[in-house]
Amino acid sequence: MSFLNPLADESLDERLARQGVSRREFMEYCSALCVVLGVGKKFAPTMAKALQTPQRPPVIWLQLQECTGCVESVLRTAEPTVGDLVLDVISLDYSHALMAGAGHAVEKALHDSMTANAGKYVLLVTGSVPLAENGVYTVIGGRTAKDILEEAGKGAAAVIAVGACAHFGSVQAARPNPTGAVGVADIIKDKPVVNIAGCPPIGDVVTATVVHFLTFGRLPDVDPVGRPLFAYGARIHDQCPRRANFDAGQFVEKFDDEAARKGWCLYHVGCKGPATFSPCPIFQWNTRTSWPIGAGHPCIGCTEPHFWDTMTPFYGRLPDVGGFGIEERVDVLGAALAIGATAGVVAHAAATGVHQMREKNRQLPVVDGPSQGGTPNK
Ligand code: SF4
Ligand code: SF4
Repeated sequence: MSFLNPLADESLDERLARQGVSRREFMEYCSALCVVLGVGKKFAPTMAKALQTPQRPPVIWLQLQECTGCVESVLRTAEPTVGDLVLDVISLDYSHALMAGAGHAVEKALHDSMTANAGKYVLLVTGSVPLAENGVYTVIGGRTAKDILEEAGKGAAAVIAVGACAHFGSVQAARPNPTGAVGVADIIKDKPVVNIAGCPPIGDVVTATVVHFLTFGRLPDVDPVGRPLFAYGARIHDQCPRRANFDAGQFVEKFDDEAARKGWCLYHVGCKGPATFSPCPIFQWNTRTSWPIGAGHPCIGCTEPHFWDTMTPFYGRLPDVGGFGIEERVDVLGAALAIGATAGVVAHAAATGVHQMREKNRQLPVVDGPSQGGTPNK
């Protein structure tokens, strides 16, 4: 039994019934998630079976040099919340933010779980690893972040780095990087590390990645910087509802001008969407209430490696980016706008939207823009 979850012996069916979730709704959730993951609805029964296995996979969640924003983002996911997921479907054996206990007792719980579940547990990591000054900038229970991560990584069946800090060090690694911060994949070299990129990342992407591992026994396919392709396979610019304004040359020049009130394109006030791969327009935040560009703020490229150095100044314009033809634009926008309707259908619509995006993206020409934008800070 997970020491964090006193109800861990309850079956998932019993738990869903207690929460008023019908078998049909559960299967619909599995179907939608299969589409999000790009594997097709035919795998929904396989996923349902994997999530209902009585033997819950143990999860160890390390928090290293970070601000806890990623944990907050992950816990606010929906349908089901990752909080539900980790507490109901998996056995969360260690997490600083969620544990009621502290001190030697929880450190013992961590080691007990690593020993008992060697080679079987999922390791989630938020935060960077500071290497400067022998790692003194993050010490937990008398041990450096590097030591803790190396030990936990040895017995992990899968390693999932959550957030920009765990991905590449994020703000701590921005020049001049005083703590010598690096990402998880810079320390764990003997097994694949999946990076759920973003500052913060989208919690639903973490959910989908964990469920992919539970269902198929392996992590999803990734891009060259370790991000799962099902979520990071398309550029923000190619999914953006303001893309029609970009193509029509309709730009916001100041945040309070008439164009801003009309919701036109934010490219001239610094939007890095043309150089950023992320599912933000599809998944969104806060039970899919909104997302940065939807709220009128330019994308700052937070899912891209070293964006604090490469995407700054955040309100500076990228070098010119070529436009697409009207046909592709209509297709892309049709897929993007198809997801926006009501909360009740958003899960399915988002799933469909992501799948459509992936299909469309394979057929679209590449934007003639730089891979990185902005003027680096000196
Ligand atoms: S530049 Fe930004 S706001 Fe404009 S269409 Fe591209 S992603 Fe959307
Ligand atoms: S819109 Fe851009 S900066 Fe904002 S969360 Fe998404 S990827 Fe990050």
